[in-house]
Amino acid sequence: MSNKSYNSFEMAQAQFDRVADILQLDQATREFLRVPMREFSFSIPVRMDDGMTQIFRGFRVQHNDARGPNKGGIRFHPQETVDTVRALAMWMTWKCSVVDIPLGGGKGGVICDPHNLSLREQEQICRGWVRNMANDVGPLADVPAPDVMTNAQHMLWMLDEFEAIRRGKFPGFITGKPVGMGGSLGRTEATGFGVIFTLREALRDRGIKPADAPASVQGFGNVAQYAIRLYNQLGGKVVCVSCWDQNDQISYSYRKATGVDLDQLLGITDKFGGIDREKARGLGYEILPGDDWLTQDVVVLIPAAIENQITGENVHQIKKTVRVIAEGANGPTTPDADRVIQEREIFMIPDFLANAGGVTCSYFEQVQCNMNYFWEKDEVLGKLDVKMTSAYHAVADLARKRNLYMRDAAYVIAVSRVVEACKGRGWI
Ligand code: GLU
Repeated sequence: MSNKSYNSFEMAQAQFDRVADILQLDQATREFLRVPMREFSFSIPVRMDDGMTQIFRGFRVQHNDARGPNKGGIRFHPQETVDTVRALAMWMTWKCSVVDIPLGGGKGGVICDPHNLSLREQEQICRGWVRNMANDVGPLADVPAPDVMTNAQHMLWMLDEFEAIRRGKFPGFITGKPVGMGGSLGRTEATGFGVIFTLREALRDRGIKPADAPASVQGFGNVAQYAIRLYNQLGGKVVCVSCWDQNDQISYSYRKATGVDLDQLLGITDKFGGIDREKARGLGYEILPGDDWLTQDVVVLIPAAIENQITGENVHQIKKTVRVIAEGANGPTTPDADRVIQEREIFMIPDFLANAGGVTCSYFEQVQCNMNYFWEKDEVLGKLDVKMTSAYHAVADLARKRNLYMRDAAYVIAVSRVVEACKGRGWI
């Protein structure tokens, strides 16, 4: 699926403009919220293992901090652009607001492909990113976290660099840290589990049992894996999953009508997260083109890879059996596809609600770091369930009462809270 013709930032702005009309926001408020408050763009020179120096481009965008410090991940991606980071930062503002945690919105990125970098080179990128940003991030200003192709180890290198520069211990600077090093139990599971908490409620509202609602998932990264795990635990099966293949630079879909076996697939996954196709075939999986995850006769679709995947071109291939879409990724559906989904009355759990579990658990991580007292995993996941379930119902109730599309209802709640904070502070 191409993402060349879609600009995520324009898409985020189009979504915002639509809700600004619903809320009848004044001109200054619209102007203020449709662009980020601050942006940083910088070079990170890295001495590579072969002795040559390579320059990487890094970004941080702080969209809005009226409700609390900016919060959001740092992505490592070869196709990263400042516009993608802007969109993602804006979505973080709405995400923290819709689940009502006291944080704003930010996002960072580095144009790089960790598949082609040694661990030492990755460490240098992490440290270089922090050296550039050390004065403008921190527990009270802007708190990074993992995102696409970054993990707990990257966070720990970043923390170490920040603490060396700022001379002290600042565990609240960054979240998604390793457990035992200021990380929270349950953080790894949080985003995928959160998607399923909201899906569970959506199915219950429609009187559908997970056992009667086969799902198809796009992606086989952290979010997808934990979404599959919890959906299985609830009695649901996932009959198709797509996964990126680093060698071929395309993705493939893996289908098994009786349900994919997560642990079995994880057992035949390489260090880049790619599934071994030959072994999968041997285990009874059908190997299909990457886009086929979308065209399955299932009840639930979970796009859990990257942005711009369900588009005006392919949305019509979604089967009539599909009742619910739960967006695990950020921005997987383009506005033209969104209109079609709305017209077809497929129930949408929008990204910044469905995938808010990650940042909600990041907030719990900060709380635990501040107390210097760490909770058991069950306690973390229990609190996460409560937060996600109540945010879901607040949005679904509003959607029902005002006859709004779920994405618009989520936006109405999220944007109203941010507007109130900005106005209360006297900014606009
Ligand atoms: N990167 C994740 C997201 O997009 C988590 C952000 C965070 O934990 O701050 O929601």
